[in-house]
Amino acid sequence: MQCEIVAVGTELLLGQIVDTNSAWIGEQLALSGIDCHRHTTVGDNRERMMAAFREALDRADAVIVTGGLGPTQDDITREVVAELMGVTMERDHGLADRIKSRFAGRGRKMPANNLRQADVPVGATPMLELPGTAPGLVCPVGDKVLYTVPGVPWEMKEMLKGTVLPDLRRRAGTVSVIGSRTLRTWGQSESGLAEMLADEIDRLDVEGGPTLAFLASGIEGLKVRITAKAPTPGEVEAILDDEEARVSSIIGPIVFGLDGANMESVVLDELVSQGLTLAVAESLTGGLIGSRLTDVPGSSRAFRGSVVAYAGDVKRELLDVTDGPVVSEEAVSAMASAVCRVLDADVSVAVSGVAGPDPQDGQEPGTVWMATCVDGETETVKVVFPFDRVRTRQFTVISVLNLLRLRLLKRRGG
Ligand code: ATP
Ligand code: MG
Repeated sequence: MQCEIVAVGTELLLGQIVDTNSAWIGEQLALSGIDCHRHTTVGDNRERMMAAFREALDRADAVIVTGGLGPTQDDITREVVAELMGVTMERDHGLADRIKSRFAGRGRKMPANNLRQADVPVGATPMLELPGTAPGLVCPVGDKVLYTVPGVPWEMKEMLKGTVLPDLRRRAGTVSVIGSRTLRTWGQSESGLAEMLADEIDRLDVEGGPTLAFLASGIEGLKVRITAKAPTPGEVEAILDDEEARVSSIIGPIVFGLDGANMESVVLDELVSQGLTLAVAESLTGGLIGSRLTDVPGSSRAFRGSVVAYAGDVKRELLDVTDGPVVSEEAVSAMASAVCRVLDADVSVAVSGVAGPDPQDGQEPGTVWMATCVDGETETVKVVFPFDRVRTRQFTVISVLNLLRLRLLKRRGG
């Protein structure tokens, strides 16, 4: 069973509203195990709507049309579908009464226009749900089916759940469920990851089974999504478990978490599980590291605090930085060990760099020194980010937390 989605609305084409309906419906179809190979967006125009519906019905067994069911002149989905079915429209009096009673229920008089919504192509069946005043329709077209649902998202969802998805599952006699799991990674490029996983992807291609996809997500890192299809949710989980283990063993510790986990929460969990507390000394990030850590509920179990030492003399006075350049290995290393003492913490991270856009002390923008201090031992790393100020600061936060994560993993391993 294949189903396509057509979103109707000129405002979608103009970018005035974002087509969240197709995204949501696409997800629901996947979860129901119904294939969807194409989404189309079309403006409120008779010929182009007709062409879009026809083409979708030619390719797929079922089509879901969202939008253009309202009472106004530009809402023409109903008429176009009648023409496509080769039938006329007839007033459905039962439906007219239901629409009227929706207005009566809200103590409002119904504009005459709204009765247009009770005009139904002959042969189409109004859906039982009527959350607003625009009825959804199940429209048989030959041995295929077209569903029309309103553009208003909550109305659309009610009809999808109540009528469309159950009807599609019944027609498909479906039995399969699709599930996915996302491995969150930090520290590899997309092409680097693809190279590491090339053999595994080839193997899956040949042997069948789950699929792998890469999603570059900026400071959220690179995501590797595993998608599996099987008759039951339990079997889907088993396939995902197996593939997650394979992928993790291939790409190793660059995987920092699964699905909703982020770098901050993973680092905090690891600190808590090892009974360690954390201090931060930050310069170019101006408090961003502390901010991201404290976004995580329960961060106080491990996070002691952050010293934002922005000016050079603050670094020297509070964090034992000696005279000389403050974007340097010596400076960041002093900051990391001093902040452990000042904030009475077991481990720390420290950053000092040039966020840009201008160079500083002869160092180019994007130059960042990072330090981690674990068990009294300080390690440093220098990176030159090729980014603007905003991204340099953001990447610094995640990169230094990742360095700490890797050291904590090693520490746990003995
Ligand atoms: P109405 O009875 O409200 O006129 P309708 O079926 O005619 O319903 P539209 O006129 O196409 O629907 O859209 C109504 C509103 O629903 C839009 O202004 C927009 O806010 C929202 N909407 C429409 N289509 C989408 C979509 N594809 N994704 C998200 N929101 C949408
Ligand atoms: Mg409308």
